[in-house]
Amino acid sequence: MFEPRFTALNMNEILKYLGFRGQELTEDIAKQLRRCTDEVLQAATPRLTYRQVPLEDGAVLGVTFAGKDIPTMLAPCEEVVLFGATLGPGVERLMMRYEVTNAADAVIMDACASTAIENICNNFESDMRAEIEAGGRYLTDRFSPGYGDLPISEQPKFFALLDMTRRVGVSLTPTTIMVPRKSVTAIMGIARTPQPHRPPDCEHCLMFRNCPFRKAGRRCREGAKTAASST
Ligand code: SF4
Repeated sequence: MFEPRFTALNMNEILKYLGFRGQELTEDIAKQLRRCTDEVLQAATPRLTYRQVPLEDGAVLGVTFAGKDIPTMLAPCEEVVLFGATLGPGVERLMMRYEVTNAADAVIMDACASTAIENICNNFESDMRAEIEAGGRYLTDRFSPGYGDLPISEQPKFFALLDMTRRVGVSLTPTTIMVPRKSVTAIMGIARTPQPHRPPDCEHCLMFRNCPFRKAGRRCREGAKTAASST
């Protein structure tokens, strides 16, 4: 049974959420980023739920998903892992408080919190991948509503399959916004053969802070990205 866990947050990922494109990162801003990160992590009470279930005729417990991306990703798979994670209500309250008292900090905290929930998801994916590979099978990338051609309107299916509200305290508004906002649902397939992975994102690249492509609003591998590109 895996528990939600943080590792060190990737500063470049926070900068990416803030729209950083190689501007000077002053020591004052770096300090503000560290302070906001610390506050977000202190307020977080992360929760995680997941289940490993069979994939039968392209359906997960009788549920199929819109679009072509998920069926294509899952075509070689025999099982799936569904998971949901949240930073918890404390981070939501923290961000709401800063939205009315300090707009600049609120924007940075939003970026820190996005990075923090991504961190929880990455760590769970890594734990699950190690377990599946130890058993001689392979995980696909993970896919969430809003990625590729899977619309956000598919979120209620994930909520029902994961029993999100009862298990981790996340609810869904009629417009499919998750509350608390810093929550994620996703699916990964399990196959008997190695699965292709999308190229790593910029924040993991050594060029991130000075990249000429990013400064020009482009990517070095334009056209090579897969459908599942970001959270
Ligand atoms: S070199 Fe490519 S991967 Fe690296 S930061 Fe630039 S665009 Fe991103």
